[in-house]
Amino acid sequence: NAQFRVAAEHLRSLGKFEEASTMFARSADHEENVMGALQCLLELCKIYVLNGIIMDTTSLTELRRLLDKTTEVTKFESQSLKGSRQWNMMKEEIRLYSAYVNRDLDAIQQCIRFFNECKGHAAECRAILLWLKIRTNADNQAEYWREKLKYLLRLSKLAHPFMESTRNGDNTEEKEACKDFENVFCVREMEDHQNKRQIPLQNSLINNMGENNVIDITGDWNVYNERIVRQTIIQLFSSYMYEFIWEAGEKCKSIPDITSYICYWWPCEDRTCQRHHMEPTRENLHRRLSLACLHYTVIQQLDVLELTRKRRLKEEQKQDAYHLQKFWTENLVKYHVRYQLPKASFPELMYDHINRFSDVRGRISEHARKQWLGDDLQAQYFANLLKCMFVSLQLQDEKIINKFCDEISKSWYPVKNGSTEESANTKGLPIGFEYNKKGDKVVPIAVRLSKFINHLKSGKMITAIIYAKRFIAYALRFTDEVNLLADQALGDLVSLMEFTTSLAFFTHPERYDFYLPRSYLYDYYTEFSENFFSGNLRLSSQDDERNIESHRNLIWDFFWQARHLICILVDHKPIDLDQQIALIIVRRLIRVLVLICLNEPSYEAQLVEFLKRCEDKPHLFQNYLNKTDMESLAKTLDDELKETDFDCLVRIELEGFSEILLDIAKMPVYKTDKSFHQQDRIFNDRIECL
Ligand SMILES: [Zn+2]
Repeated sequence: NAQFRVAAEHLRSLGKFEEASTMFARSADHEENVMGALQCLLELCKIYVLNGIIMDTTSLTELRRLLDKTTEVTKFESQSLKGSRQWNMMKEEIRLYSAYVNRDLDAIQQCIRFFNECKGHAAECRAILLWLKIRTNADNQAEYWREKLKYLLRLSKLAHPFMESTRNGDNTEEKEACKDFENVFCVREMEDHQNKRQIPLQNSLINNMGENNVIDITGDWNVYNERIVRQTIIQLFSSYMYEFIWEAGEKCKSIPDITSYICYWWPCEDRTCQRHHMEPTRENLHRRLSLACLHYTVIQQLDVLELTRKRRLKEEQKQDAYHLQKFWTENLVKYHVRYQLPKASFPELMYDHINRFSDVRGRISEHARKQWLGDDLQAQYFANLLKCMFVSLQLQDEKIINKFCDEISKSWYPVKNGSTEESANTKGLPIGFEYNKKGDKVVPIAVRLSKFINHLKSGKMITAIIYAKRFIAYALRFTDEVNLLADQALGDLVSLMEFTTSLAFFTHPERYDFYLPRSYLYDYYTEFSENFFSGNLRLSSQDDERNIESHRNLIWDFFWQARHLICILVDHKPIDLDQQIALIIVRRLIRVLVLICLNEPSYEAQLVEFLKRCEDKPHLFQNYLNKTDMESLAKTLDDELKETDFDCLVRIELEGFSEILLDIAKMPVYKTDKSFHQQDRIFNDRIECL
């Protein structure tokens, strides 16, 4: 017995696994020998599947033959072997390889879960690689990709310590992770030689190692320096991951959950409609967002795994990787971050989500500063400027907005001699520029936006509001020229209108309460924006003597602007603008109009008259038509907001407002008007989800 074992161990040490296994099996009455026999067979299986994964050079027939042999060994399973962790891991490995030869994705998935739970990282890694290896025609389905992306991310995480260029030698956990990763490639550390690695001859990895790098041969093993082995594995794995991430970039372009707007219509009757169709519930939205974030995180692994570093990829691959990452950052912002949902508005869901993925947030922020405020920065490109401002507020990242103000303040040029007499207007100047007050500089119109921000920060609310209003006025006059018909740009302009209009309500010289949709608080009055604007969002004006008359005029200007933009959209129907986006914008603007009249009733007649003129467009104005008094208009607004199960009209009492902002969950001073059937239920929901 002992002789057989000695012989078997010797054969194993030479790398002659199959012979060793047979030898072990000859004395199968000893548990260690049964274990040894199975280990040797699995060692070979591992090499075969690895060759399949990396080189595509495995024969399934050979693998099947080895798997058949394993059943002869497992026959000898004893009671105590059944209780052994190592034995059970090996049996699960057999299951994995059988699932692989049978192309059974579900069974492989179960194995992945098993290895994950018992922390068999090398086996988990191998199982994931096998899952990824099997092609399926479900690869146009969102749910298939959700799985696949999850696995790619997990793989990246398992590989990360090994791939990292600055490895910290002392960390045992990291060392363990690196060892596991070498194990995936069937590489083993040589006994008593930390810097040497043994690789069995059957392993295709040695084809990539270069003959000159062999430093020794023992039995069926080649011996190499650790450094060379590491480099080879990194190279191989890099191009392997690159292929997968590239594929995720290409194939997911046709997954509407990730790369298109949510359709306004549910159900949608247009058979040619390419948008994402889903019922806009919180849960569905959550799924959509998490898929998009997951996908984005996977794309970013190109950097995380340092694939984009020198020599890990070919030069043209590095270029492609750069464009791929850029494309998906823009995609995420366009379809997920900035998108105003048609019927649902869950701004807080977005905060939670994006901010939880700190990687995602950081990368968008970096892209914004480098790209939008770098290469893309042009004074007449308002779409881009507004995007910077609202993405900054939405991601709660002040770096973007600070850089925005910085850059804008730099982009002026002096007036040439003799042209100062024109300084009263913008005549002769390119779009997006005006003369400054003194008339000695030409400055971008966007300065009005940065002044809005800076005055708000210093507490000069009315001055700030007036700058924003003047920016909006210019934008409305040159909608097309300043690129506001692109993508979400008009939506961002409407956000600015909502924000400033609501700010204007604060400046009423006598009244200290007013109505807002609850979603505004989440969009514009978050704790972050409070801090960013130095807590001045809720201060009533200190920079100006106010009387009711001038307040009314200010509010009227906003009424006029909102109405004007509706007219532009309804009467001129800009052809470049997506029709669903236009529809959503019109509906947001109607809300602004009703809100203005609710807080400033003197314009009620104008609103009623305006709506009368729009009677021939019921699809745009829906329930607001045929309403002739403020109470029923306000009721309509409130009902419409409540369709989302999140939003509603709330009354703000100015004195308690600070407390609301500090602790939005408690909402004690958030008095709501009973006449709008306000229910506290919604607030309770919020408390629960906190
Ligand atoms: Zn549709």
